[in-house]
Amino acid sequence: MNQTECHPPEEVAPGIFRLTIPVPFQSLKFVNLWLLADGDGFTMVDCGWDDEATRERLEAGWKEVLGGKPVTRLIITHFHPDHMGASGFIAQRWGVQPLTTQLEWMAGHAAVKSLYSDDIELRAQFYARHGLSDELLALYRKDTIQYDAGAWLPESFTRIGEGTTLEIGGRTWRVLIGQGHSPEMALLYSAQDDILIAADQILPKITPNVSVWPWEPEADPLVDFVSSLKTIAEHVGEQTLVLPSHREPFTGAAQRIAELQHHHVERLNHLRQLLARAPKQRVGDLMEALFKRALDGHQVNFAVGEAVAHLNRLHALGEVERHIDGTGQIDYSLISSGVSPDIELETAP
Ligand SMILES: [Zn+2]
Repeated sequence: MNQTECHPPEEVAPGIFRLTIPVPFQSLKFVNLWLLADGDGFTMVDCGWDDEATRERLEAGWKEVLGGKPVTRLIITHFHPDHMGASGFIAQRWGVQPLTTQLEWMAGHAAVKSLYSDDIELRAQFYARHGLSDELLALYRKDTIQYDAGAWLPESFTRIGEGTTLEIGGRTWRVLIGQGHSPEMALLYSAQDDILIAADQILPKITPNVSVWPWEPEADPLVDFVSSLKTIAEHVGEQTLVLPSHREPFTGAAQRIAELQHHHVERLNHLRQLLARAPKQRVGDLMEALFKRALDGHQVNFAVGEAVAHLNRLHALGEVERHIDGTGQIDYSLISSGVSPDIELETAP
């Protein structure tokens, strides 16, 4: 974890303060938490990865920002441990019951018991069936960061969902739902001030991971991701101040949404080119061409999941044949190829 890349607490819009907390994931560096002035107290959005360093940073941030007032409400955008991890600590510290969506709550409670996204062995078998090299499999097993290493969750929550409105410090925030990166991520949008708390759905410079996971091998999460972005785009615009969970706040939600969609179209086109070289290719064969940088063990998860997500999209478009042999090994062959101007949602199954 890199403390030096974190910022001191700062006010990013009237009454909205940012706390940065280091995370153990190399490419993310830190997570942004938000403290929203809310009458006699503050509403907090997201929690950080739960460890001693986070708790110390939280205490220091609260001391600086809260001015002696309490945290009276906690909203969790999604179940990933850098967002939900320290929720048990914060809930207990301030005597609050967190607000989050039902699917994120359930996902977190499964992951913390080493189920769902944290069934390490199930994932290893899935990667092996996709032809991942022994070397990458060993790296994955060695470096994968376990959810329960940084998460302590409260026992109960208050449900929010698509269209829920929350009054916080004189602003009305509407919950918008992001999908594809996590099952039911809560974003918060204030139309009156044109501010979007974007969680991990819309990040600057980096693209949110959109993966297929072993418990739903035929999933088409790119459709979930892009269609939820399209719904979000109906609310936000070119001047929207975006408060992302990672990296810096920026202006221009609409432009960034267009860039994210374009990124995935390019990834699909790259895969079409790679698949045109030979039939019956496996994800393991494609890894080097798809991911130029050396991956750490934790990134292997996202790399395979993301490759399968794009292959499943091409399969749904009728361009790729998926073949599973008698031992469960999976390969892909290009059967027709069109360069799509957009991810063609209407042909999704
Ligand atoms: Zn996330």
